[in-house]
Amino acid sequence: MTTDLKVSVEPRPPRAASDGYILVVDDDPSICDTLATMLQFKGYRTEVAHTGPNALKIARGDPPDLVLLDLMMPEMDGLAVCREFQADPRLADVRVLMLTARDGRKDVVQALEAGASDYVTKPFYIDELVARVHTNLEVKRYHDDLAAMLRISQAVSSSLEIEKVLYTIVSELAQVVQSDRASLIKIVDRHTGYVVATQDDPNLHNLSIDLDGYPEIQKASAEGDVVVVDDTHTDPLIGPVLHTLPARKSIMIVPLRVQRADLGEYVLQSSRRYWPYTEHEIKFARVVANAAANGLANAALYEQAEIDNQRLTRLANTDDQTGLYNHRYFYQRLEEEFKRADRYGSDLSLILLDIDHFKQVNDTYGHQQGDAVLRELAAVLHRTIRETDLLARYGGEEFAVLLPETNLAGTYQQAERLRRQVKAHYFEALMGKPLTISCGVACLPFATEAFAVPRQRQDALISWADQALYTAKRGGRDRTITFEGRQSHE
Ligand code: GH3
Ligand code: MG
Ligand code: MG
Repeated sequence: MTTDLKVSVEPRPPRAASDGYILVVDDDPSICDTLATMLQFKGYRTEVAHTGPNALKIARGDPPDLVLLDLMMPEMDGLAVCREFQADPRLADVRVLMLTARDGRKDVVQALEAGASDYVTKPFYIDELVARVHTNLEVKRYHDDLAAMLRISQAVSSSLEIEKVLYTIVSELAQVVQSDRASLIKIVDRHTGYVVATQDDPNLHNLSIDLDGYPEIQKASAEGDVVVVDDTHTDPLIGPVLHTLPARKSIMIVPLRVQRADLGEYVLQSSRRYWPYTEHEIKFARVVANAAANGLANAALYEQAEIDNQRLTRLANTDDQTGLYNHRYFYQRLEEEFKRADRYGSDLSLILLDIDHFKQVNDTYGHQQGDAVLRELAAVLHRTIRETDLLARYGGEEFAVLLPETNLAGTYQQAERLRRQVKAHYFEALMGKPLTISCGVACLPFATEAFAVPRQRQDALISWADQALYTAKRGGRDRTITFEGRQSHE
């Protein structure tokens, strides 16, 4: 079969671009028409151009997978067009099949040097040309798949934000396996699922769906294998829910093989109008599903590490015995709150409180009961403080409450509340014998214009409160003393 043979058949409707979109460029219109008609007959989508500049214009508007490019053209020859393709990042991956009129070795070398992937000499045999087209498109497809896999694996290994990983996976899937929609769905049970990522909205997470409306997902999940629906309008699986589907579609569901059982079950869903998925596309979706499974496992590992870290930090900041913050954490927060109060000109106050005659408690009831009293006291204090205040175990039977944005009078009131609550509390470990505390209160009045302390003097707050506490003890205990000397009397 040579070029002068006219192929006259009804062109098939355009297929999905994954079957191949070919731009035919030749200054001879009859060659263009012949090639285009024949390629359409083979199922490819085609465009034609009769000049180099026109070819570039068409390709820039809609990059083809392959160009059949005549070498000898007036105005701008095939070599020049080829170089322009190479220079344009969007067109550099397009494969060029050069049509050379002569069998000259020099032409061929020049064409390949200009960036052509392959060549066919004129007059050509249709069968050979079709075979070359087919091979070049296959290579292009593998190249594109590899590039997509590379982008996916980069996203999976470089981003530990699970949402970003999942979005990259579905959007790459939608692009390579041409889809109107691609989503990743987490299966909760037979009837419930969540769309955790979808290619058309990077911000969509955890949209709940009723799986009874998606028998194809239920089947894939139950069987743990790929389910492909070529045509929703004829597949009996879809029959019961067909009335809910507005358009004729092809659907593919690929379960993810997640190695860790605790991550749950996921499926990848891809759908598009009209064109059934090819074997190649199904294979690619399986590969993407594997990458997605790895991405999920990685991100989950990272999240677990984060949780472990948080747990360790909490442990490091906590006093074992009472569950309150410890001395170390108290100092850390004091430093932060001091800086903040200084910057915003707000008051910062402290209550230091100490159990009265706690030694006697130990002596009378034993050390273990003493421990129980400490725990009960911690609970009472914790219940009584405000949410914005910080309670810590400062020492053995001494506690500290840090009160941001609270002046001396307010702090005094808070201390008195604590003292009264403790005194009124029935301590199990003491079988009802009352326990009292003494409180020392101090304030760094940053809100008062005249007040200024050097930055390193945050310790002044502790020392003032400590002095007030000492005064309270000396004055007879069971009372609150402020650093200014104000005092409560029973
Ligand atoms: P004051 O009213 O002057 O504070 O008298 P106090 O007896 O409470 O004070 P002192 O400082 O003399 O004694 C504190 C006691 O608290 C001594 C110590 O054994 C006890 N204590 C400190 N930490 C713990 C603890 O974790 N558990 C128990 N059971 N006792 C503790
Ligand atoms: Mg004491
Ligand atoms: Mg003490």
